[in-house]
Formats: sequence, C-alpha cells, structure tokens
Amino acid sequence: MDRAGLIHVELFRRGFYLTAGLTADGSSTIIPMLLPVLGAGAAAVLAGYHSMAPRSQWFGRAFCGVARGSRQMAFTFDDGPNDPHTLNLLDVLSKHNVPATFFMIGRYVRLRPDIALEVKNRGHIVANHTFTHPFLTFASSSSARSELEQCRAALTDAVGEHSTLFRPPWGARRPGILRTVRQLGLQPIMWSVTGFDWDAPSAEYIQKKVAARVRGGDVILLHDGGHKAFGTDRSHTVKAVEALLTRYKGEGYEFVTIPEMMSRQSALLH
Ligand SMILES: [Zn+2]
Repeated sequence: MDRAGLIHVELFRRGFYLTAGLTADGSSTIIPMLLPVLGAGAAAVLAGYHSMAPRSQWFGRAFCGVARGSRQMAFTFDDGPNDPHTLNLLDVLSKHNVPATFFMIGRYVRLRPDIALEVKNRGHIVANHTFTHPFLTFASSSSARSELEQCRAALTDAVGEHSTLFRPPWGARRPGILRTVRQLGLQPIMWSVTGFDWDAPSAEYIQKKVAARVRGGDVILLHDGGHKAFGTDRSHTVKAVEALLTRYKGEGYEFVTIPEMMSRQSALLH
C-alpha cells in the first residue's frame, strides 16, 4: 500500500473497524466498516494517522479547541521552520495582524534557528513537535522523552523562552506517551479542523477542506513545512491562509494563539 506500510493499533471501540494506511508522504486512508465478527459490542479499531482521531479520548485528553459557536479561531502550523514558506507565511499573518502557533521540528530548528527566532519575534507562539517527527505510538517512553527534550533544547537555543505546548507528530499518542509529555511540563495540543494540506493540489482545495469543518472555536491544522524534507513546498498553504484570513475576518472571527484560546474559555478536551 505504501512504503511506510500499514500501521495497526488495536483498540476497542463501538462497532467499527478502521484500518488506516500511513503513506510515506504523510497522507493516509481510513476505511471504516462494520465489523460483525466481534461479538457483544466489542470491536477492534486498527488506527493510524488521522485515526489518531484528534477528538478521540482513547489516547488521553488533549486540547483541541473551545465550544462550538465561539468566534475565536486558532491557526496552527506544523513541521517548520521551512525556507522560504515559513517567512512567506509570516508576511501573510503580519499583513492581517494575526497571531498563530507554530509546532516546530527540532532538527529543522537546528538547521534554521534564524527562521524560528523570526517566528517568535513576530509575536507568534513557538512550540514543540519533537526532534525528528517519529510515530510516538510505537516509541518507548525513553525515546519519546529524548525526542521532546531534544526539540525543547533546540527551541531554547534558537529562541530562548518558548511555550510549553506540544503536538505529537500525526497526532499519534497513547497514555504512556502523554504521561511523559506531562512529566516534562508540556501540554498536548490536537486540532479540530485540518486543511489536508500535506499533498493538496491547490490552495482552493485547502480552503474548501477547512471551510467544510469550521464551526467556531476551532484549532486549525496546517503545515508550513514537511516532516520528510526541509524545503517542502507549502506555497498552496500560504495562499490558502491568505484567503481564509480574509474570509473569516470578514465573518467576524477573532484569530488567537493556542494559549489565548486556552485561557479565555473552557476547553474542549479530546
Ligand atoms: Zn508534523
């Protein structure tokens, strides 16, 4: 199915069987079907990537927005810093005077600490997205701890003090990993809306994906970089953000950082 192969995690959940393929480019497929062979309400979920359903509680609770109908919206950008797309994105955000939250990959921060610093200097939130972007569901607690600590050190060296927010790569997590996250003083952050921008064919595609899911109070997942390679083209994302900001500002939305969203309203935890 793909170079990375199928990733299977068995969970028990109501009557559905999900199988998810994690592809090498970070996209995924999820095929839900009824699973008649498991009796008494038990069912297995084979989960990967998105099944790491951002709203699922099976892996432990993590912030993913505030109550529906809120006029707040938080843009989050993963897998940077990246050149030139992170800086292009910063220009779009500055133009609209909108703050955002950036979950950075530590090894890219080591590569371009200047871009990470520029993100912070423009008033955005800098946050941890591990050092090498591993699939933490299958990581040992010690290797997960090392990933988080290495990213934190890279961020500290590049920008100094930064947020305690953490987003697991692909949203993949399990209770043991979340214990490690919390032991390190980090807060796990998920999302409620994704732009599916990792292999989007156009900016319009990303805009449609986001618009289809926005309900107010949302945490929007987009990418200014790519976990596979530094320099991944994110021009579609930059263009989509420009259009989305124009649209939702016109509709009266207020754009906030994750810490702002967490502090002002009761959180939705998933
Ligand atoms: Zn990522």
